[in-house]
Amino acid sequence: MRLTACLALGLALGCAGTAHAQSGARSPAEFPVATDAKLEQAGESVRLTMALSRPVEVAASVLAGPDRVVIDLPSINFQVQPAAARKSAGVIGAFRFGLFTADKARIIIDLAQPAIVVRAESRAVRGGFGELVIELRRATRAEFLAAVAKAPVPDRVAAAPAPANPVLANPLPGRPAGETRQTIVIDPGHGGIDPGAVVASIAEKAVVLAFGLRLKEQLEASGRYRVLMTRDDDRFVPLAERVGIARAAGADLFISIHADSLTQAQEVRGATIYTGSERATDTEAARLAAKENQADSVAGLDASEDTQDVAGILMDLAKRETRTFSSVFARNLVETLGGSVKLHKVPLRSAGFRVLSAPDVPSVLIELGYMSSPKDAELLNSVEWRVKAVAAVGAAVDGYFTNARAPIGKAAEHRP
Ligand SMILES: [Zn+2]
Repeated sequence: MRLTACLALGLALGCAGTAHAQSGARSPAEFPVATDAKLEQAGESVRLTMALSRPVEVAASVLAGPDRVVIDLPSINFQVQPAAARKSAGVIGAFRFGLFTADKARIIIDLAQPAIVVRAESRAVRGGFGELVIELRRATRAEFLAAVAKAPVPDRVAAAPAPANPVLANPLPGRPAGETRQTIVIDPGHGGIDPGAVVASIAEKAVVLAFGLRLKEQLEASGRYRVLMTRDDDRFVPLAERVGIARAAGADLFISIHADSLTQAQEVRGATIYTGSERATDTEAARLAAKENQADSVAGLDASEDTQDVAGILMDLAKRETRTFSSVFARNLVETLGGSVKLHKVPLRSAGFRVLSAPDVPSVLIELGYMSSPKDAELLNSVEWRVKAVAAVGAAVDGYFTNARAPIGKAAEHRP
């Protein structure tokens, strides 16, 4: 019911799935609510405040390169427009906020200049409410680095394969016994603390979640597929964990969903299908992959933590085959999507997306369109467009599992 209402709204901002209720964890509806984010500057100091439905515990730390302040909080339901967080004032360049794991939320403040944390607390205000107050003061580079050296290292629990995700909380030992359906993992990009592209009051993370949930519904309705999601609510999932979910599930297909933005070119529009490869087909693809690969550092994780490349000649063969299957599916997508929605003028490309790195799961990343194009943004938020595009992706999946293996088998005969 709730999901339908969210989709009908077009904008799925703040709409969460029902995984929490099912897994027995607290649902976002029970989290303290944060509203009314404000930035106030006075001389060398800047204060970020948010109104809270009740006081919470607050922990602050500072990190260098990129310079930022990380505020750790218990789970919070942020009712704050993502656009509000792009404002800057004094030492604050911008800030992000969102769920970091199932029971933690995080605010990350990008520093425009070196600064130290003077105050980080939530104080009780009348009526049982709370107010979050983060006060930063401009500092010298030396003062800032001294504070970094002393600061506690922010929690990195989400980088480990911890049961932060309901899918991982119930480990999936590959395909369950007796399961004959094909397994598809849908990966709505970004989430939680990482909003992805933000244009006006619309965040990429909400657009792609709405799309992913609708695609899951459609694929499941056919009865042919077992469908899993890397996230089904507004939470942060590290890139390696997304890949891990697909591999642990023994997935036959991995579909990552994104909606990019290009601030410098509003006229660029249309959907693009990407496959993974070390060498990018063009500079725009390379630029986009670099941007998407930063998702972990956006959330305050070290991007280098999880790169564990699998080597070996068998793995190379597996990778090559996986790549061939990925391309077949990508071409199917271009064909079916091209029949019903606008495609980018170069709709099929590849680059080194970390989320497409599973050596044994054919993986494709769909950029639904450019949120920076007013026309695309309108479509991405229209239920009608979404239904059409989801149907096209569904048709590509059906085509892939019905026909794909035939041409591949022939191609394989020509291999040395
Ligand atoms: Zn994205």
